[in-house]
Amino acid sequence: MYPDRVVSGMRPTGSMHLGHYHGALKNWIKLQAEQPCLFFVADWHALTTHYDDPGVIERSTWEMLIDWLAAGIDPSQTTLFIQSRVPEHAELHLLLSMATPLGWLERVPTYKDQIDNLSNKDLATYGFLGYPLLQAADVMIYRASLVPVGDDQVPHIEMMREIARRFNHLYGKEKGFEEKAEKAVKKLGSKRAKLYMELRTEYQQDGKDEALEQAKAMLDDAQNLSLGDRERLFGYLEGSRKLILVEPQARLTAASRLPGLDGRKMSKSYGNAIALREDRDSVARKIRTMPTDPARVRRTDPGDPARCPVWQFHQVYSDSPTQAWVRRGCMSAGIGCIECKQPVIDAIVKEQEPMHERAQQYLDDPSLVRAIVADGNDAARRLAQDTMRDVREAMGLAYT
Ligand code: SF4
Repeated sequence: MYPDRVVSGMRPTGSMHLGHYHGALKNWIKLQAEQPCLFFVADWHALTTHYDDPGVIERSTWEMLIDWLAAGIDPSQTTLFIQSRVPEHAELHLLLSMATPLGWLERVPTYKDQIDNLSNKDLATYGFLGYPLLQAADVMIYRASLVPVGDDQVPHIEMMREIARRFNHLYGKEKGFEEKAEKAVKKLGSKRAKLYMELRTEYQQDGKDEALEQAKAMLDDAQNLSLGDRERLFGYLEGSRKLILVEPQARLTAASRLPGLDGRKMSKSYGNAIALREDRDSVARKIRTMPTDPARVRRTDPGDPARCPVWQFHQVYSDSPTQAWVRRGCMSAGIGCIECKQPVIDAIVKEQEPMHERAQQYLDDPSLVRAIVADGNDAARRLAQDTMRDVREAMGLAYT
């Protein structure tokens, strides 16, 4: 019905490090070549946890955008924008909030986790409770069908789907819907119309999901339908409502996890991070002073890679022969830790070289980033305005 758009955002609350690169950005770079993507700086989301320290947000926003571009996000393939520059996100969030039960938000698992993890902040706020709903608006405003997430975010997507379903159920009613849908069926042409009705019956009477999928694919291919008829026919397949908001799907990402220098999660606040554009000497120094297996006190003591954070870096950065060399050399005390760390240093420096090069032009001329984002804001806004037109109309707020 709508193109398979991908939407994802990141909070600008500090500079980006290699953990972000391996955990999310690499996946974005892959996705941008496959589907239309919209990636945004989630500055309003950052305010839900940093409302008392907003200064960090603007600074981090521009740094983060340069990091994205340096990492290989290509603005000619992807729409890059800043959330608060597309105020339709907030309008949809507000409208969705009217009909979203409080319990749905309170039971989002990451809500309680975050309150526990960030116990130094007072997060008993209206904005923080509502952040999963703002996320739902971020996605639905673009009628995006795919959201790249890790396992822990799947419940958020489930909730987004429930919200879209509830919205369509409440506001997708249309006077004379059945008659209009039947007329739209005829516009498919007699052969397709017959098949559509058969598939609809198979789905509605026998619950055959394949029939639903086949019918949807057929509608995707039908060229001669107006947008309104298309929405009706999608809605008529499943019931008697128009589908105004799209139920998004989680696109699970098998991200490689790069831990911090001490083996814990990489985070600037733990002091265990390597910045995305860290300079080469600093990378070498940080890796050389990384802790290793505590059992290797002397060079002659054998070690166990499973107890060494450097090994986790090898798992991300080294090929199989190098990994075999590390395992053998460590367990037999055949290699020293400094020797073992060198291939990791070389691999990180090599990975970062093109990032430094790409970043340079944006550091030399910051107006380039401003221009990319201004274009992205406009493009995103046009899509968002289309959705809001339909949403307002469905809710009786069009005032035409
Ligand atoms: S040889 Fe390598 S894997 Fe073994 S303890 Fe030293 S740094 Fe870690």
